Amino acid sequence: MDKDKYFLNEKPGKLTYSGVFKRIDDWTRARSLWVVAYGTGCGAIEIRPTFTSRFDAERLGMRMAGTPRQADVIIISGYLTVKTLKRVIRVYEQMQSPKYVVALGACPINGGMYYDSYNAINKLDLYLPVDVWVTGCMPRPEAILAGFKRLQELIDSGRADGWKKYIENLDWYRENQKKIIKNWRMPNYNW
Ligand code: SF4
Repeated sequence: MDKDKYFLNEKPGKLTYSGVFKRIDDWTRARSLWVVAYGTGCGAIEIRPTFTSRFDAERLGMRMAGTPRQADVIIISGYLTVKTLKRVIRVYEQMQSPKYVVALGACPINGGMYYDSYNAINKLDLYLPVDVWVTGCMPRPEAILAGFKRLQELIDSGRADGWKKYIENLDWYRENQKKIIKNWRMPNYNW
């Protein structure tokens, strides 16, 4: 989003200090995304060229993070199973807010080619709030970068609020998660 246009659209009388700082936060946050990549499926192979010299995502304001606690974004790169769903939830809940979820490929949307597998999770958004879906099987690095561009636009305009919905609807998410994960036994993190 054009920064100047964003500010000029506001009527001067309505611009508050907190509103200005919120916009500065959003603008800067969108351009400095630390990413933790959770390679759940075959689509994970496209993350390497996206973040290394071939496509060089860092020039666009995103880089890999060392741990979930340092990350702003989690990439869920393909299908999830009952076992990996538990780990992904645990990683997501360790991240500090505000935090964002990017899902890669057909599998997190509807199960993809594993839609009728006994162990695959078909709809990721029943368990975690997804901010951006990148479709394809598998999505190429250009598609992943386009997805990140979309995420940056959403953050920039204050509309990437999946993390807020997760907190507000935690009971609903927990109920869905516990229907799938029978041996729950996970700590409750304080985000
Ligand atoms: S969408 Fe395709 S590439 Fe991605 S995890 Fe599923 S089968 Fe693999």
